[in-house]
Amino acid sequence: MRLEFYGAASGVTGSCHILEVGRSRVLLDCGLIQGSREEEARNREPFPFDPAGIDAVVLSHAHLDHSGRLPLLTQQGFRGPIYTQNATRDLCDVLWQDAAGLAERDAAYLSRRRGKAEPPLYTRRDASVAFEQLVGLRYREVIEVAPGISVRLLDAGHILGSALVQLDMQDGGDARTLVYSGDIGQYDTPILNDPTAIEDADLVLMESTYGDRLHRSREDSVREIGEIIAAARHDQGNVLIPAFAIGRSQELLYLFGQHYEDWGLDRWQIVLDSPMAIEATRIYWDYPQLYDAEASKLRRRLHEMPRLQNLRLTRSVEESQAINRLHSGAIIIAGSGMCSGGRIVHHLKQNLGRRGCHVLIVGFQAYGTLGRRLVNGEPRVRIHGDEYQVQAQVHTVGGLSAHADQGDLLRWLGGFQNKPSVYLVHGETEAKQAFRSEVRERLRIDAAIPAPGDILDLDSLELTQGRH
Ligand code: ZN
Repeated sequence: MRLEFYGAASGVTGSCHILEVGRSRVLLDCGLIQGSREEEARNREPFPFDPAGIDAVVLSHAHLDHSGRLPLLTQQGFRGPIYTQNATRDLCDVLWQDAAGLAERDAAYLSRRRGKAEPPLYTRRDASVAFEQLVGLRYREVIEVAPGISVRLLDAGHILGSALVQLDMQDGGDARTLVYSGDIGQYDTPILNDPTAIEDADLVLMESTYGDRLHRSREDSVREIGEIIAAARHDQGNVLIPAFAIGRSQELLYLFGQHYEDWGLDRWQIVLDSPMAIEATRIYWDYPQLYDAEASKLRRRLHEMPRLQNLRLTRSVEESQAINRLHSGAIIIAGSGMCSGGRIVHHLKQNLGRRGCHVLIVGFQAYGTLGRRLVNGEPRVRIHGDEYQVQAQVHTVGGLSAHADQGDLLRWLGGFQNKPSVYLVHGETEAKQAFRSEVRERLRIDAAIPAPGDILDLDSLELTQGRH
């Protein structure tokens, strides 16, 4: 039995680990590398294994940094099943089609510019083929995914359908239990349940994206959003919220529903300007069995889509362009979450020059993105080659992260009653190192930080350096 760490061991994107038990080879996640153009070019490098030789994939959740390379894996010969939670299966359909459409448009643009055909990373057809290989599971259902490897998915509380993956492995007389965390959610997040506590495992492979910091409190963040909406009302401007289509957009709509009266939202037009977020909201609506107690109660009182009376869902480009005529009184939620593309960019062009406009940043903004420049308070920004003065007021609200912070991660890991071996596989180097010292101090566990290509012998727990 062995485990090879491949992607994400060195950063926060491109998750992928290979598990070998006897003759069975199973992949844990297969995510896209996201970041600068040079980094993303690495998605085109061949897999360091033969895709046709993989028996099955287990997918923790829909986010592209965990799922986004699966259409490429099937394009290159993988024919086996991809096991995942039912809601993740539905969300992947939306995410992969969108990612493939974007890749096709990018390739067409590059082909025109370079005067030669540039193939897309993968096509919408590849995405459809991969979707057909997805096998949806319920939480807690046990299934043998390959000889000697049984899997059980448990709620990770990160986005709808997100799972902690428990793998029970058997090779001859040896048995091992491995828990792979995927991404772990914050405790007390709206809509979703808390991450499931697990008491027993031999090994834990865990993320530590925010292993070096604590989020602002959720109550403070929610209060702040109310204050920003009040200020925008006073300034007679719009509120722009760049948001990820899956997770954050639904959480915002839920908060708007909860605070409809005390935030005076009846005086606003609320616009969800993202076909992908609208689809994802529909999928969230379709899975009430995955909600926490509070959201379930709310859901029972509503009989259709959670319609705030003044919520507009804009799918077409024409409808989206019409929003540009609104100079005040609109709360606009649109992607992309980091303002690096998508409809939010057009709304920013229209609104950044207006003093009354308020931009509400609720998610992580990576270095080099337009969102990051706004957060940094740059007085002028370039968009599509033109310069724009930033007169609008930009606010960063930090408490709505879908990711566990250091305290949440420790709480979840502290739930194990035995002392499992811990491997930190998802996070920037500083975050992993900071979290490792916390784990040592608070839980008396020595966590390891494997590098890409490192191989862990699951019998002896010996870690050998890889060939990459
Ligand atoms: Zn995620």
